[in-house]
Amino acid sequence: MRSSLIYLISALSVVFWAADAKALSLCGTLKQGEVLIGHGALSKSVTLDGKTYPVNKDGDFLLVLGRDAPSKVTLSVDGKNYDLAVAKQDWDIQSIKGVEQRKVTPLAADEAEILREQKDVKEALTTVDTDNQSWQDGFVLPIDGTISGNFGNQRIFNGIPKSPHTGTDIAATEGSEVKAAGNGKVLLSGGNYFYGGNMVIIDHGLGLQTIYMHLQKATVKKGDEVKKGDVVGLVGKTGRATGPHLHWGASFNNIRFRPHSLLEAKQCIILESKD
Ligand SMILES: [Zn+2]
Repeated sequence: MRSSLIYLISALSVVFWAADAKALSLCGTLKQGEVLIGHGALSKSVTLDGKTYPVNKDGDFLLVLGRDAPSKVTLSVDGKNYDLAVAKQDWDIQSIKGVEQRKVTPLAADEAEILREQKDVKEALTTVDTDNQSWQDGFVLPIDGTISGNFGNQRIFNGIPKSPHTGTDIAATEGSEVKAAGNGKVLLSGGNYFYGGNMVIIDHGLGLQTIYMHLQKATVKKGDEVKKGDVVGLVGKTGRATGPHLHWGASFNNIRFRPHSLLEAKQCIILESKD
């Protein structure tokens, strides 16, 4: 009994020592529009350029470099500051013609519908569930198809410049199956929205969500737990779409990023403080 207690105490101290000695590392590409994974934080949150993001119980955290992130950002972890140099991304310009004019220059009568969409989407994309750690289970491509619109591109609809693209468009046959990119919980389903059409938003925890737009229909409902690869809807052209495609989006704490960066292998660097 006594020896097992001593064993338990020494085992615990080893665990604490290991956590203490774990180096602070950051994995991913330091480039505009990319998601990054951090390890080795001791406190419950980190800040990036003054914005606070959660750390899970294992010391892991996520960060996103937005589409227009500056060339230098400052990460603060456990009272120390780290300057990170962010590479610029060349965002392309995409001119899309043949869009229903009302979806480019909406009527006053459309205002309530646009506000309903903005409110519902914002509510989903500001969800921060620190108990849900399914983002750590990895991600897959939700559908195979040709990319018909890149994340971040500057879009011109019927000759009118509009806001940059918040996701990646993947062209596919109407009715083909759209899969969940990762394990998680459905936060929003359907909606028949003005711009997004029928949508699905899946929560992967820690403030990370993936977004599926223009669906013919959603095949899951709000509150459902889904596994990576489960069918969540069918490709359509609902909302502002000129043809059947999946608009695949990704968001972290309501900042959109290039969704394919969830799929790519991440190189890690050990962070060294300037303090
Ligand atoms: Zn799109």
